[in-house]
Amino acid sequence: MTCVLSVLVQTPAHSGLGGALHYAHTQDLPVGTLVRVPLGNRETLGVVVTPLPAEERPPGANLRPISAVLEGLQPLGSRWIELIEFTARYYQRSPGEVALTALPPALRDLAPLQLARRLKRHHTHQATPTDAAPVTEAPAPIPSPEQQLALDTIESQTGPFLVFGSTGSGKTEVYLRSVETLLARDPQAQALIMVPEINLTPQLESRVHQRFAPRWGAQAIVSMHSGLTPAQRLRSWLSAHHGQARIILGTRMAILASMPHLQLIVVDEEHDPSYKQQEGARYSARDLAVYRGRLDQAKVILGSATPSLESWQHSEATAPGQAPPRYQRIAMPSRIGQGVLPQVRRVDMNLQPRQTLFSGVLLDAMRERVKVGEQVLVLLNRRGYSPVLHCRSCGWKSECMHCSAFRVFHKIDRTLRCHHCGQTDRVPRHCPSCGDADLGMLGRGTEMLEEQLADLLTGLTRPDGQAVRIARIDADSTRRQGALAQQLAEVHAGDVDILVGTQMIAKGHDFRRVGLVAALDPDGALFSSDFRAPERLFALLMQAGGRAGRDAALSRTHPSELWVQTFHPQHPLFEALRQHDYPAFARQQLDERAQAGMPPFSAQALVRAEARQQEAAQAFLNAAREAGDALLAQMPELAHLEPGMGVHLFTAVPMSLQRVANVERAQMLIESPSRALLQRFLAQWHPVLHEVRQQHRQVIRWAVDVDPQAI
Ligand code: ADP
Ligand code: ZN
Ligand code: ZN
Repeated sequence: MTCVLSVLVQTPAHSGLGGALHYAHTQDLPVGTLVRVPLGNRETLGVVVTPLPAEERPPGANLRPISAVLEGLQPLGSRWIELIEFTARYYQRSPGEVALTALPPALRDLAPLQLARRLKRHHTHQATPTDAAPVTEAPAPIPSPEQQLALDTIESQTGPFLVFGSTGSGKTEVYLRSVETLLARDPQAQALIMVPEINLTPQLESRVHQRFAPRWGAQAIVSMHSGLTPAQRLRSWLSAHHGQARIILGTRMAILASMPHLQLIVVDEEHDPSYKQQEGARYSARDLAVYRGRLDQAKVILGSATPSLESWQHSEATAPGQAPPRYQRIAMPSRIGQGVLPQVRRVDMNLQPRQTLFSGVLLDAMRERVKVGEQVLVLLNRRGYSPVLHCRSCGWKSECMHCSAFRVFHKIDRTLRCHHCGQTDRVPRHCPSCGDADLGMLGRGTEMLEEQLADLLTGLTRPDGQAVRIARIDADSTRRQGALAQQLAEVHAGDVDILVGTQMIAKGHDFRRVGLVAALDPDGALFSSDFRAPERLFALLMQAGGRAGRDAALSRTHPSELWVQTFHPQHPLFEALRQHDYPAFARQQLDERAQAGMPPFSAQALVRAEARQQEAAQAFLNAAREAGDALLAQMPELAHLEPGMGVHLFTAVPMSLQRVANVERAQMLIESPSRALLQRFLAQWHPVLHEVRQQHRQVIRWAVDVDPQAI
């Protein structure tokens, strides 16, 4: 007998083939079975999905047979497939693509025999206890009243929860306790803890191990992130899929892993932009967490000191009689152990001599900290020595030949480097345009700060009499494998007094001895064309400030400080920052967004297109727009809406970084006050886009980005 199977495979995006393909097999296979199937002239991995009704199925006789069934693997669950199908639908990709990218690459790449061997090894390995050194149980602290209240709420209600707790308020402790309660109650239950970037928080990994390995064994905890080798990823995935892993600690990709007994999802630092995937299916792992929570009946805890404005709005109290807020907000305003939040000091740079790098008052404050053995963080969101080199006589600037951006001067290896295409050149001795030797620098980067600080602070000593030690952490200093971990360890060990760095140093590190954090040059974000820039800046500064004063004993005697050097000291953002008043900041931003009809008061999508010529990219988008408008005119559900309530397509414009590696980039915005309406439109428009694309051959790449993070 021949059975017809529907199988999801990863078809090339441009093929326009969306759904499942059909194959023949001698017997029926359960939904979720992993199979290898022929596709064109190669063989590929596929997932068996629900078959079409018998009358719609193609006749089995003409179909190619599947090549093999992956033995030793439980079929993927139906809820997992539902999650994949939702993700594909919502983010406008094919389910095959989403399914296959959600699986560990080794499943796809290993030959069947090799894979069978790996699986066998995995099963025997899991059966025997690991011989890893036993971890001693770290005694869990007794929850504070605020933590207890949060835990009780999470235990007794359904959520999703938004834990709004200042930095150091003990949010992580709440997550860990919730996980603990769950694991103790249900011997099968799995919990997912997501973090924005795992290599920035190695501490969390060790905290989780210390907490859970003694009781549940080291193999009950797995990590999932892009830093793992394919073999490690396969192992983690298999453990989660077969239920051996009880705690999955991962970055955004983990939200699509198979976790059949998932009952709790924690999204730490839920506001972080790295939860949004930036290529392929551009999903938001935070939003999918909420969806998956509903699907799997798992509790969802979002946590942040500076929630995304979307989540904040969703957790705002509603008027009596209205539907309750979508998320349940749990506030944890106090820092653990009377640690106080840093005092915010603004330095008005208008009153400083031009080109001032560090104001005198800030330098003095830094010296004081170092003298008493405290640490200082200096934050500047630009790496390299200087972002632009220029000629004082003819005006030449270090533009990249291939991009609409400047090559950045790196003094360490005397290069000009484009941070977008990677073009690297030796620094010219003379102006390439007029030959003049008088080349100057515009702006400063972390490398320059590190160097200048060493000069400005010569003679400064620590309490032990040694000279002050300055270090830098940014994408350049951490390129080597393991470099970041090593550098962070040095800071933790107290070997560094002043740490200069980009936003990498502002994320969740639990530095104990930081007394002062200084943010230089944050003003760009105040006037950015991206409406989310202020939100990002506020979160970054609050987080950076949160690195200070974590040691309560220290901060009692000497209150910690967050310094901001700005040309706009009166800006409401800094005013709210000074008061540590996220709610005030959110209110002000949300008012602006409501008036302008921007998210979260509207839903957006972007279509981006790339071509050699800007005109070609825009022509495609504008043709797509015309087709979209024609489609809208025919959609009956839109016919009777008031103007502005439907779906609006904007004219195509160049992207703010217009050219990268000789490719021109353009985008078009689609907006609607109704997410559901936007989704219905996008679903109908998608096939049309593929058709329009056929007439615009010069387009190299195009993609839809639903709920884009950067406009
Ligand atoms: P957050 O995640 O909000 O920044 P953490 O959970 O990391 O806060 O807590 C900050 C620090 O306080 C950590 O060092 C943690 O071990 C400690 N801590 C948390 N809760 C308690 C508690 N109830 N009693 C004592 N120390 C605690
Ligand atoms: Zn010149
Ligand atoms: Zn370039």
